[in-house]
Amino acid sequence: MELKEKAFKSVSRKAHPEDTVIDIGGGVKFGGGNFTVIAGPCSVESEEQIVGIAKSVKKSGARALRGGAFKPRSSPYAFQGLKALGMDYLLEAKRETGLPIVTEILNIAHLSLFRDVDVIQVGARNMQNFELLKELGKTDKPILLKRGLANTLQELMMSAEYIMSEGNARVILCERGIRTFEGVTRNTLDLSCIPIIKEATHLPVIVDPSHSTGIARLVAPMSYASMAAGADGLIIEVHNDPENALCDGDQSILPAEFDFITQKLKMMAGLFDKKL
Ligand code: PEP
Ligand code: MN
Repeated sequence: MELKEKAFKSVSRKAHPEDTVIDIGGGVKFGGGNFTVIAGPCSVESEEQIVGIAKSVKKSGARALRGGAFKPRSSPYAFQGLKALGMDYLLEAKRETGLPIVTEILNIAHLSLFRDVDVIQVGARNMQNFELLKELGKTDKPILLKRGLANTLQELMMSAEYIMSEGNARVILCERGIRTFEGVTRNTLDLSCIPIIKEATHLPVIVDPSHSTGIARLVAPMSYASMAAGADGLIIEVHNDPENALCDGDQSILPAEFDFITQKLKMMAGLFDKKL
């Protein structure tokens, strides 16, 4: 089955044969042979937590900091994020480390809180929230668009088109695993989608080995496999105390494990024509 490119004209490589390189600020780029790693906790839990993790992942080679302030949780009784206070802590981590920040938006009414955010994440659960996508298409912020839990590549391309069709050309795609009948892993990482997406579009695409597996010990092998598959980078959950994390502890790796992974990726980069 071929992708139907007529439905995603601006996203298609036919419209733009060269790779799009997205500069998120601070000299950090996605695409065009760069292999760019975003790291940080699932959720911002305290100022000490986010600043501490930011400092250690930066030392290991992360180029941007992730951390959710607004969390889309399956249960309404689960931790929902620190919201505006979490945004303040993220901005403090940015001031102290210089790392650009990546954080998820759940509601367009919160947009004013994202003024100093470098990349706005649209999570899997909102990949087809078309009104949200259209509004983000009117902003000048880079958008990290995650593949939905049960969405096809055709649908991912069309969601990126929603953003681009409103004028915002800075879209970074993210494969984060899809729902299948398999229950051992949290999701099934569809790595074969990476070369397909790279053929179909000029936009950069990164992999989230944390949500796609749900298991911390699988993050390393899936990170290496993502580089081999041709991804433009990774987004990895790193926590200083995974056992007590307020969200996604089972898939969060320690800063030392993150350091090991980035060292190995640096060794691999030359082989796969990537700069890291
Ligand atoms: C996240 O990145 O913390 C997240 C909620 O991811 P996803 O939308 O891929 O589930
Ligand atoms: Mn998470």
